[in-house]
Amino acid sequence: MEKGGIIKHDLSKSPKTGDWAYAKPEVDKDKCIGCETCAMYCPDGCIEMIKHKEDAKNKADIDYEFCKGCGVCEQVCPVKAISMRK
Ligand code: SF4
Ligand code: SF4
Repeated sequence: MEKGGIIKHDLSKSPKTGDWAYAKPEVDKDKCIGCETCAMYCPDGCIEMIKHKEDAKNKADIDYEFCKGCGVCEQVCPVKAISMRK
């Protein structure tokens, strides 16, 4: 059986969907445990895991030019680190 994988979009070739959003997700970097669940579920592939502090785990970082505000990331985060704001 073939293993699954995460398809990374080439955002430079994608239409910018950020204008559609009526709400945007905010990540509480202190709560984020770096599990990458939000990045796996985001339908726009616009969540990157980046180093927030030198000695810390990677944290979720959202590209608002492509986030369409669907709220999936808020729903799947196991520690409620993401909140949708209008
Ligand atoms: S609100 Fe939707 S599009 Fe935006 S980062 Fe979360 S899952 Fe991705
Ligand atoms: S799902 Fe939540 S805890 Fe996991 S990386 Fe995303 S924001 Fe962080």
